[in-house]
Amino acid sequence: MKQSTIAAIATAPGESGISIVRISGQRSLAVLREIFRDSQGRKRQHFAARHLYLGYVLGKDEQILDQVLVTYMPGPYSYTGEDIVEINSHGGAFVTREILALVLQQGITLAEPGEFTQRAFLNGKLDLMQAEAVIDLIQAKSKAALQQAGRHLRGELSYRVAAMRELVVGLLAQAAASIDFPEHDVPQLSAQQMQTGIEKALADINILLSTSFAGRVLREGLQVAIVGRPNVGKSSLLNALVGKQRAIVTDVAGTTRDIIEEFFSINGIPIKLLDTAGLRQTEDPVEKIGVALAEETMLDADLVLVVLDQGQPLSVEDRRILGDSGIGRRFVVLNKCDLSSQLTVADLDLLQGENIFRVSALSEAGLAELRTAIAEIVMQGVVQLESPFVANVRQEYLLREAAAYLQAAAETVRSGWPLDMVQIDLQAAYDRLGEMLGQHASESLAQEIFSRFCIGK
Ligand code: GDP
Repeated sequence: MKQSTIAAIATAPGESGISIVRISGQRSLAVLREIFRDSQGRKRQHFAARHLYLGYVLGKDEQILDQVLVTYMPGPYSYTGEDIVEINSHGGAFVTREILALVLQQGITLAEPGEFTQRAFLNGKLDLMQAEAVIDLIQAKSKAALQQAGRHLRGELSYRVAAMRELVVGLLAQAAASIDFPEHDVPQLSAQQMQTGIEKALADINILLSTSFAGRVLREGLQVAIVGRPNVGKSSLLNALVGKQRAIVTDVAGTTRDIIEEFFSINGIPIKLLDTAGLRQTEDPVEKIGVALAEETMLDADLVLVVLDQGQPLSVEDRRILGDSGIGRRFVVLNKCDLSSQLTVADLDLLQGENIFRVSALSEAGLAELRTAIAEIVMQGVVQLESPFVANVRQEYLLREAAAYLQAAAETVRSGWPLDMVQIDLQAAYDRLGEMLGQHASESLAQEIFSRFCIGK
């Protein structure tokens, strides 16, 4: 299929040091020849591959639009695998748009978001997991996430999955051979060997699957919801943990109505702190929305910090919040430990068995311990930061499916069925692993993935 030639501004909109207009496709070089003039004002026919040329872009009226540096990168040794031209111009928003308009006037199509990377995928320059790593790299919020995405972009995760596929296809060949050539004395696997092989593949998948939680935390951060009734010091705690003023701290009850999100990092891993509205029964319609949001956030969180004010005995609301927040993992943060404790014996009884942290958001006493405890959760399940991680829900889903098929195949062998009976399950597991790499990816899936990219990527 002949692809159209596409172009887009590859740099962020607005004024900047330089901007880049990127063109990809068969007509890239022709467009460059048309709009570029060298420093003597002459047209140029020959552009050496991957060399920089200084010159000018001429507008339609033959007036100079901008001084530029251009590069021609012929396919297949380019990002997209097609001929690419990049025009570096001065970073004015207007001049960049003018250059793009000029390119488009040559009959070039404006690129869709992610279309350059999509072409790289279609031309076999990247597999789907590497393409996903490109987004992860762009969106990385911490050093650890960046390193992980970099490893995946270099193909480390793809390599792992390809190796699992290799293993499965080997077993599949053996299962097929057991019916195709039963009378030949091709050395064939015994049921026991088949069983061991399947279990090995399953174990490999499970090791990778065990990184799903850590992978998500690396990418999106550990979601930590801060809940508590108004005025216990939730916003103050968020500010103290994040280390800069962000949330509005006030002593009027019910002022934090939205969910405030802040990132900070522990050991290079992002922690997403969500400061919720005070959880209390209220008639105020706006505050009601805030309270509902807070409850939802609490349910989605990886960790809930229930903040209590130890300068006062627990109130009915405190007790209700303790009752409501016990579903997932939680820490009880007794704030204001700079004040003398007014917690009653009954209060302390109620908190028996909880993970308790005594802190002062004001003096920052006890915060180091709280940070360390959060870090321990973050590191849970992180087998080795150096190895690849499951990078998203799509990959996790396909791995789980592959594991389920292998499980079924192992069960078949265990039950003493003939070996060829495992073919369908092994084939399905093989296909799921292939889908991870993007083999037979449907157009809608590819579109869904690449539409998350920005224009020009
Ligand atoms: P929120 O409504 O739960 O977000 O509470 P804020 O963070 O707005 O704090 C309510 C009030 O408690 C403010 O006046 C804070 O200065 C005060 N406060 C917060 N943390 C502490 C603390 O550790 N010690 C003391 N003494 N006061 C605190």
